[in-house]
Amino acid sequence: MFRKILIANRGEVALRIIRACQQLKIATVAVYAQAEQHSLFVQQADEAYCVGPDTAQSSYLNREGILMTALLSGADAIHPGYGFLAEDAVFAQMCAECGLTFIGPKASVIELLADKAAAKKFARQQGVPVIPGGMQLKNEQDLRTKAKQLGYPVMLKANFGGGGKGMRVLASDHELRHQYHLIQEEARQAFLNDAVYLEKYLPHARHIEVQILQDHNGHLQILGDRECSLQRHHQKVVEESPAAILQPQQRQTLYQLAQRLMAGLAYTGLGTLEFLFTGQQFYFLEMNTRLQVEHAVTEMTTGADLVTTQIQVAAGKTVQPKIATFKGHAIEVRLNAQPQENLLATGQLTKFRLFTGARVETGYREGDQILPYYDALIAKILVKQPTRLQAVTKMQCCLQRVQISGIGTNLPLLKQIMGLPSYRANLVDIHFLAHLVGDAQ
Ligand code: ADP
Repeated sequence: MFRKILIANRGEVALRIIRACQQLKIATVAVYAQAEQHSLFVQQADEAYCVGPDTAQSSYLNREGILMTALLSGADAIHPGYGFLAEDAVFAQMCAECGLTFIGPKASVIELLADKAAAKKFARQQGVPVIPGGMQLKNEQDLRTKAKQLGYPVMLKANFGGGGKGMRVLASDHELRHQYHLIQEEARQAFLNDAVYLEKYLPHARHIEVQILQDHNGHLQILGDRECSLQRHHQKVVEESPAAILQPQQRQTLYQLAQRLMAGLAYTGLGTLEFLFTGQQFYFLEMNTRLQVEHAVTEMTTGADLVTTQIQVAAGKTVQPKIATFKGHAIEVRLNAQPQENLLATGQLTKFRLFTGARVETGYREGDQILPYYDALIAKILVKQPTRLQAVTKMQCCLQRVQISGIGTNLPLLKQIMGLPSYRANLVDIHFLAHLVGDAQ
């Protein structure tokens, strides 16, 4: 087992990893941006070092600084959490070259799956249905021809996009011409690569995903499914486990697709296979090669501790192949510092009390500042009940008890969702929230 793990992340996920390490009796090293020197995760780690000034680019994405800190502090592994360097194949390779264990799959696997077009091609080869499209585009003329073949509306996506960024729905030739160069430029700036591909736009799909864990011997565990259809700008806001819409036969089909995909990969660690589900058919969307934000709903229904198991598997532990059984229904909401569409609220949390009776994962305390440099997540609030409807009702009660002031949040929207008859009846799809709040698609 590892003796010391450096956590290359911040906020709630850094705290979640610290908790897992404490359980496994592994010492922890936090790295932080100057602006976060007084943060909870910095205080809770056994050691903490500043790796750069405030922006993510110069701190949590500072590969060399983080590696150097790991080596100098005597850590034997790095946990990247989610976001930042979690799906950075170059960083995973650098860790390996420095003799450090990157807690995740090996660099070549991350590299294959980080390119969404390549991942789709791989899925197709494995006999897993993918959303029509995915072909590489030679130039603008080629793009228009292929869009016509697919039929509008289409989606133009950056191969290396993530976090809901780098994708656009296009309804016509005119829009396509206009957006092509814009999205290429956006991709070049955000993902340092301007490759884009086309895909058919699915208007009424649901987002359903499978949690997997695989050890070094290729023993695969399927740890249930989740539904994450409630999104704003392609970013998840509410997540549930299991995906209550699935009939046993459909779930079996989904898991078979997951098994088929995994059979072709020399994969180690936790991962999530994302699908869109429409017309009784699953279409592979992408694989996330890391711990997900929403992992805890799976923990609540399967009883598994995903983070401790992830660390143990990275250290060489073997697991028994299995399809986990689940019990009850869990819901997570993301309390974001986003009072309105895409607007990050910053400032001091003058009141922040989440004694709600729910499981809460947060990196903040009352009095802390929400800074402009990082993401909008303030807290994840999670409940589990025997049935979905009971879980929705419980979440509704918990949200009523949240006391937060100082900055604007999406709390009113979360409360509204829990009270909606259509949500309670599980009549949702990936556009449900956009329609509710009037966001542009
Ligand atoms: P990211 O890696 O940025 O999260 P994904 O490819 O996982 O991007 O897609 C995120 C979300 O975008 C999906 O859950 C879905 O809501 C929406 N989306 C992606 N592709 C399509 C598509 N072809 N048609 C309709 N919606 C899509």
